[in-house]
Amino acid sequence: MVDCCSAPGLLPFEEAMEKMLSAIMPVKETEFITLAQGLNRVLASNISSPLNVPGHNNSAMDGYAFKLASLQEQNTLTMVGRSMAGEPFQGECKLGECIRIMTGAKLPPCCDTVEMQENCQANDERITFLENRKFNDNIRFAGEDIAINQDVFAQGKKLSAIDIGVLASLGVPKVEVFRKITVAVLATGDELKSPGETLNEGDIFESNSHALIAMLEKLNVNIINFGIIADDEQAIRNAFEQADQQADVVISSGGVSVGDADYTKLVLEQLGDIGFWKIAMKPGKPFAFGKLPSSYFFGLPGNPVSALVTAHQLAVPALLKLQNALVNKLPLLKVKTTTILNKRAGRMDFQRAILSSNEQGEMTVTSTGSQGSGILTSMSTANCYIVLPSCQGKVAAGEVVDVQLFDEVIQ
Ligand code: AMP
Ligand code: MG
Repeated sequence: MVDCCSAPGLLPFEEAMEKMLSAIMPVKETEFITLAQGLNRVLASNISSPLNVPGHNNSAMDGYAFKLASLQEQNTLTMVGRSMAGEPFQGECKLGECIRIMTGAKLPPCCDTVEMQENCQANDERITFLENRKFNDNIRFAGEDIAINQDVFAQGKKLSAIDIGVLASLGVPKVEVFRKITVAVLATGDELKSPGETLNEGDIFESNSHALIAMLEKLNVNIINFGIIADDEQAIRNAFEQADQQADVVISSGGVSVGDADYTKLVLEQLGDIGFWKIAMKPGKPFAFGKLPSSYFFGLPGNPVSALVTAHQLAVPALLKLQNALVNKLPLLKVKTTTILNKRAGRMDFQRAILSSNEQGEMTVTSTGSQGSGILTSMSTANCYIVLPSCQGKVAAGEVVDVQLFDEVIQ
């Protein structure tokens, strides 16, 4: 039975996502790469720490190190040496004595506390301590960040800039990752011209492949750009066949509606295993997922906002799964909308909006205005989606809605 929450013939968004993710088999092949090549690559093996980080007890401050017991009798100690980063103190620091110590320098076993130099008065070798200290103050302990043999990263971890820093701090020069996947991108449409070309009457500049390729760069995949393909059955078949031979994934845009020049579905049916869908989402109703003989296929709608929202919401999680990365749902925040949100029940909306804070410091969300699927500026000025469930109708200003912040893939 059809209720107001579902639209006939349209697959609910969550169901489409589940079907698509369960159809994707992650790549198995692995390779070793240097850290410099590691950004956004996915670990193929667990990493445990070969050492303590930090490797030795060291000073958190530029100052003086001593045994705290020395300060029980007196507040002036004699400086007997120094410990620098990379050049530790080798002598003995007895009661009544201290050493000069720099941030990161090794704390000798004969000292247990550090005071920062701002709280000391130095008179040649005589150092007067102006404040009371507690045992072990200003010390960073061996292994307090990462202990030897501790599990650091698990297989499936997509490496961020920070993760690469952590691996470097462990002295790991190379890591085993899953092989890069290759994605072929093509744009279908007789009216499309590349920026730089001359527009004839009725032509438009092609933008989908440009934005999509920029998004794919963030996923660190190999990209093959097939450019613009005419609305011609044979031309589309040739392009799909070539792309299928060279790539793990083929992503096209345009030609997935029911117009006279929409050949994508037809060609997919001829060449592969079609999982053609219409999805109960807005923007992005016409979206196709299927399989070509040796690749996965995503057919994005032609309208630029629809193309990018479906690429981001559906194709990106699928690519992450193919790369073996853990696919986490982006978190939803509960925020008051400052504007009315027009909506009809039946499809899940991904409206483009700006999340900001008002004068009271409260988070608010404001629609970027006209939500037409061809209005790409509604997306470029946004920093988040307002995610409205299928059942939801029009939303009044002041109501609380779910907000999903744009992640690094589309920002
Ligand atoms: P289609 O899905 O092919 O019917 O296209 C729907 C709308 O999106 C039409 O107005 C097209 O001109 C436009 N469009 C299709 N592909 C692109 C593209 N690659 N870049 C910009 N606009 C496009
Ligand atoms: Mg078209």
